[in-house]
Amino acid sequence: MFGRPLWVILLLLLVASLVWWRVPADDGQLSRTALVMGTLVEIKAFDDEKDKLDSAISAAFAEMTRLENLLSRHNPRSEISQLSAAAGPFTVSQETAELLQLGQSIARRSDGAFDLTLGALKKLWAIESDSPQIPTAAQLQSALSGIGPDALTLEGLQVQKQQPGLQVDLGGIAKGYAVDRALNVLRQAGIRSAAVNAGGDIALLGDRQGQPWRIGIQHPRKNGEVLVTLPLTDCAVVTSGDYERFFERDGSRYHHIFDPRTGRPARLTQSVTVVAKDAASADALATAAFVLGPQAGLQLLEDLPDVEGLLVGADGRLFRTSGLRRGD
Ligand code: AMP
Ligand code: MG
Repeated sequence: MFGRPLWVILLLLLVASLVWWRVPADDGQLSRTALVMGTLVEIKAFDDEKDKLDSAISAAFAEMTRLENLLSRHNPRSEISQLSAAAGPFTVSQETAELLQLGQSIARRSDGAFDLTLGALKKLWAIESDSPQIPTAAQLQSALSGIGPDALTLEGLQVQKQQPGLQVDLGGIAKGYAVDRALNVLRQAGIRSAAVNAGGDIALLGDRQGQPWRIGIQHPRKNGEVLVTLPLTDCAVVTSGDYERFFERDGSRYHHIFDPRTGRPARLTQSVTVVAKDAASADALATAAFVLGPQAGLQLLEDLPDVEGLLVGADGRLFRTSGLRRGD
């Protein structure tokens, strides 16, 4: 080497430094977690440029926080809290209108099993608080009065509640939507391979280094055990389960997914996993199928194009849509 002219050495050093810069950190993968929407969110992405990965993941988390501020019912300034407080017609942003529209279409399609107007019911049970309660029949009746797919109408950006006290709750769809938007931020930053996982609401961009992502579905009764592993590419997969948020009293489990017909936790299902093109739809469909149970729930998923799912019934039996029956 020392016998070579200086310019050759400099050229070699330059090439070496360029190669070094292109060497991906940790095989080009970066993974970060943060608490957003009350859930531990993990964003994992692949790219050769570590700085690009880092800033894209930061932007994706920022997008999820922005949506939490827009859609959360815990934040009194959010659009959804303002809509719930409004006595008359209320104008929302384009984004909120689209999400309400999607939620309402799944509410109708599921005969009201998915219901984003059950905010008062959710408050009554307070399942996620330190002091959850089992409401009386009279309390349930009052929280259920006037809710359902027709309780809310949208005209453009204007939302009309049929009764002023109606409380909107996007808990069954907002996390999926936020996961979709986070993935979109990564896509727009030029990332080709990424996974965003918000506590079982997962959106996948591309594949994982030439192979499908292998998504383990949580066993609803064996903590930490995988029920089924799904090989998936470029899609969303969302699970709703009765093990996620619940309390137990006198040997009964009271969880966070309500049957709008009874006002009580839905009883036919332990968990539902939905695979769809986008996580917002998969999220709402998983909640809907959970309420509907093995027969009607699986049928709902089977009837929709580009949607597959698996459901564990109350007795632990596993059901799958036709597209998932061909092995794991
Ligand atoms: P998920 O974990 O996606 O099934 O959503 C559960 C959350 O959705 C609950 O914490 C409630 O905020 C809300 N929710 C409960 N029951 C329903 C229902 N039948 N339809 C729509 N949202 C619901
Ligand atoms: Mg859901």
